[in-house]
Amino acid sequence: MPRPTRSRPWSEPLVIKLIERHRGRAPEEIIERHAGALRRQAGQDRLPVDVELVASVQGVESRHAPHDFAGRIYADLDGQLVMDLNDDDRSARQRFTCAHELIHLAFPGFRKETRYRLDTKQPGQNARNAEEEYLCDLGAATLLMPRDLVEDLYSLDEGLQGVERLASDADVSLQAAGNRLASLYTGIGAFLVFEWSHKPADRPALRRGEDVPQRLRVRYGSVAGVDTYVPRFKSAADESVFSCAWRGWRRERGRELLPGGERLGPFEVEAQAYGTENRVVLATARRA
Ligand SMILES: [Zn+2]
Repeated sequence: MPRPTRSRPWSEPLVIKLIERHRGRAPEEIIERHAGALRRQAGQDRLPVDVELVASVQGVESRHAPHDFAGRIYADLDGQLVMDLNDDDRSARQRFTCAHELIHLAFPGFRKETRYRLDTKQPGQNARNAEEEYLCDLGAATLLMPRDLVEDLYSLDEGLQGVERLASDADVSLQAAGNRLASLYTGIGAFLVFEWSHKPADRPALRRGEDVPQRLRVRYGSVAGVDTYVPRFKSAADESVFSCAWRGWRRERGRELLPGGERLGPFEVEAQAYGTENRVVLATARRA
């Protein structure tokens, strides 16, 4: 059964409408069903899911061109659904954006109201429709990595190897694969992404021209099996497995407390640095 991922009540009018239309069902479940229906209608029953085919079966014309946004979907004046995807993004990213845009169609009135959805470059910046965007990301992950094609074959228990295998088989980014494995994990675990950065509280000092050192900080973490979260911008200790991974290219392993999740006790962690321009440390964690 899907674990509820939120305890807060939903507040956006469009999400409330979605819940009402589905007689009070949880939005995560509605979205997961919608993604499953899209996939079945396109006859996609193995990885990687051909998301462009899913779009075309839904009557959506997808266009790829350089843009300063990740993606958008809208109905043109003739009622034709059009999706624009940023051709500057890597293919796995475009596939995720395409899936995300298709999930916008699950919300009531999309076609009639000729609403227009523009998705900015960075996930999480669509603050005004945060709930709708969260659900579209969840639906995109579900569409590209369906529970029944993933949950018995890939697991966070395999560590980063499982993340790499799923990313390769599903043709998604490592980060999307890691998040999905965390969301399906039945034990207590986490998938974490770190980057070298300042924290927001550094900004005044930076504006004054002071030299504030950057640190390896949490960009985000998906925690499974326990009601907590890993706070963004929390820094990793210098001697931690995360920091060792940052300094080299090897896969590092060890017992570690999660930044901000110290009260949960130690986790078995695997961490490795990936990428050159946008170097990040990815880590899997299972409660020891
Ligand atoms: Zn969106």
